[in-house]
Order: sequence, then structure tokens, then C-alpha cells
Amino acid sequence: MSGAEGPLRIAVAGGSIGGLCAGLALRGAGFDVQVYERVAGPMETRGAGIVVQGELIELLRTHGAGTLPTTRCTVRRYLSPEGGEGEVQRAAQDFTSWEAIYRTLTDAFPPDRYHRGATLTDFGNGEGPVQAHIQGHGVVEADVLVAADGAQSPTRRRFLPELTTIYAGYVAWRGTLDEAEAPPDLVRFFDDAFTFSGARSAGHILVYFIPGDGADTAPGKRRLNWVWYVGVREADLPRLLVDRDGRQHHASLPFGGTPASAIRDLRDLARREVHPMLAALVAATPEPFLQTIVDVAPTRTVFGRVCLLGDAAFVVRPHTAGAAAKAARDARILARALKRAGRNVDDGLSGFEEMQIEFGQGLVDYGVALGRRWAA
Ligand SMILES: Cc1cc2nc3c(=O)[nH]c(=O)nc-3n(C[C@H](O)[C@H](O)[C@H](O)COP(=O)(O)OP(=O)(O)OC[C@H]3O[C@@H](n4cnc5c(N)ncnc54)[C@H](O)[C@@H]3O)c2cc1C
Repeated sequence: MSGAEGPLRIAVAGGSIGGLCAGLALRGAGFDVQVYERVAGPMETRGAGIVVQGELIELLRTHGAGTLPTTRCTVRRYLSPEGGEGEVQRAAQDFTSWEAIYRTLTDAFPPDRYHRGATLTDFGNGEGPVQAHIQGHGVVEADVLVAADGAQSPTRRRFLPELTTIYAGYVAWRGTLDEAEAPPDLVRFFDDAFTFSGARSAGHILVYFIPGDGADTAPGKRRLNWVWYVGVREADLPRLLVDRDGRQHHASLPFGGTPASAIRDLRDLARREVHPMLAALVAATPEPFLQTIVDVAPTRTVFGRVCLLGDAAFVVRPHTAGAAAKAARDARILARALKRAGRNVDDGLSGFEEMQIEFGQGLVDYGVALGRRWAA
């Protein structure tokens, strides 16, 4: 259908949480949406945890998605590195995983509009519609191109080559351990709690249960999930980001890629630095993986008919527990702004940009403040 008479044609590049939230919200607003994801086969999940936030649940509910698989705890436990049972406060919290969110979103989105192995390789962006070059689909004309292509967004780099990614001075070591494989005393100790602890020198570690394989939330099938923020000098990052096959990475070490020597060093560090039960958890985790913590805060997110969404726009620190919810919010406000604007697409995009930047900058600042308090 021609964009001049029918609904706006919207191409979304990137089919992870941001792209799928955009797909659902924009379709819900009546637009003609296609999602193009670079990965050809099943998406490789790192399986790590995500704290459930209202904005994502609201988007799923509004667009008729199924129930998001979640785990729940009823208390927060604050431990000291010296040991002991710590202090406990009542506070319920729900958790999920990337895999659980991805499954819930894909189940709700029409499969014939979700294209795998479909990389956005180039686009022409002048006045009016965008010509998007999509691998396997030729040149796709769209009234709006939504770039939900992640924290390393090639689209953001093309428009904002000078924008710096600011390293926070620390990395997040992350790990998951299947409940069935975990020593029973660890399961008992961490069950029903969102556990936090400082480390002896500096840094901060937290633990919670998330859905396990296939997003299973049944006791015995869940996973223990932990994140440990550890200070690393910027000059030492390149050495830390070499995987077990000798490949140099720039932002993270993929799941299964951490060299055995780095895992040994991490376990030794845990024995010296954190509560004995946390050290035991780190020791029992087969494949810890690494993510460098950075801030990215652009001052523009709309370029003609192309807009950035989710991590492609702002990259916020994990302490905010807000990246997935931010992607859902971006999707909601984009759909609303375009719907309100009718055929005035440029006005709609400009309204979206203003709201997105105000919120994104606020979340980046919040993450920096939390990082100063907890992790630095
Ligand atoms: C496989 C995977 C696992 C993740 N696991 C976790 C986790 O366990 N815990 C956590 O907190 N966060 C995780 N994240 C990150 C989390 O999804 C994001 O921080 C947040 O939800 C916002 O996501 P996003 O969709 O904006 O970006 P991303 O999730 O990074 O997705 C970007 C997507 O764009 C695709 N893409 C990139 N370039 C192109 C292109 N040129 N053409 C088409 N597609 C392109 C990528 O393949 C990717 O699927 C994961 C992301 C991915 C992709």
C-alpha cells in the first residue's frame, strides 16, 4: 500500500526487545510495520536477569501479549563482606530474563512481519520516505525507519560519529547458575530475596532468581543470577576483553567466551572481597561473562525520517534496571506521537525526540549517581 494514502509504512531495524516493543506499539497505533533482524537463526541469549518494570508490563498488556514469565521475592537482604545473615527488609520484587521477554514479545508479534537474517546495510534519507537497503529484501521504502539496532548502533555512529561512549571506570561481571546445579545451601540462602552487598575494597554485587531454560519459573528450574561491579582501569580493558579464542572484543565478553585464567582470577578476587556465600556462588558459576559499563547520551535522536530507539539512542547503566523499560517507553511515545501527528510525520518525530531525550538524559544521570554511590 502506498504511504501517501494508506497507513504509514514503518521499517524497524533490530528485532530484540526495543525493535519488538516498537513493532507492537506501532502496529497497535494502526501503522504498517515490518521488523528486520540481523541474526538469521535463533537469538543467542546471554540468559541474564532483568528487573521487571511497569512500563514493559503495561506495553505487553495493552497489546494483548501473554503473561511475562517472572520470578518473585518478598525481601531485600543487605549483606556485609565479613559474613553473617545480613539485614532484611520486606520489599517484593519481580524478575525476568531477556529470553522470557523476547519470547513474550515474539509470540505477540505477527511472524510474517518479523524477518530474520535481514540486516539493514544502508539507507538513503533525504526529504520524505527512506530507502532502506535490507539484506534479502532489496530496497524497502518506508515513511519512517526506526533504528533499534542496539548499544553499538551503526545508525547512531553514522549520524553522530563524534558522540563519545563514556567508560564508567568499572565493569559488570555477570553469571547465571541453574538452580538444579546449585549447591542446596546456596539456593536456600538466596531464595525469596533480592540480595545486595558491598565488596571489601570497592564495588557492589547483587543476586536474584530468574526464569530458567525455556523461561521456566518453577522452583528447581529457575536460575540464580548475579551481577558484580568491579573497578577496572581503562588501560586494562583491552587485555580483559580478549576471549578464550584470542579474539579482541570492545564492549563485552560473550557468554561462554571468558578465558579460564580470567575465571580463576575472578573466583580468587571473590574469596578475598565478598561475603563467603557470594564467593561460593561465583565459584559455582560455570561461565561468568563481562560487560563494560558505559554512558551514551546523544543530543539528537531523529535525523530526517530516521529515529533511534532503545539502546541505539541512550545507553544507561544497569543499576537503573531501566534499559528494557526505556525501550518500551520509547516505543509507546513514538507510536503516540506519530498517531497524533497524522500525515505530519516530521512533527510527530520531533515531538517524540523531545520526550525521548528528556527522559533518556535523566536516566543516564540517575545511573551515574547510583554508580557513584554503589560501584565506584
Ligand atoms: C541476544 C541478546 C541478549 C541480551 N541479554 C540481556 C540480558 O540477559 N540482560 C540484560 O540486562 N540485557 C540483555 N540484553 C540487552 C537488552 O535487550 C537491552 O539492553 C534492552 O532491552 C534494549 O534493547 P535494544 O533492543 O534497544 O537493543 P539490543 O537488545 O542490543 O538489540 C539490538 C538488535 O539489533 C540487531 N541489529 C544490529 N544491527 C542491525 C542491523 N544493521 N540490521 C538489523 N538488525 C540489527 C541486533 O542483532 C540486536 O538483535 C540482550 C540483548 C540481546 C540482543
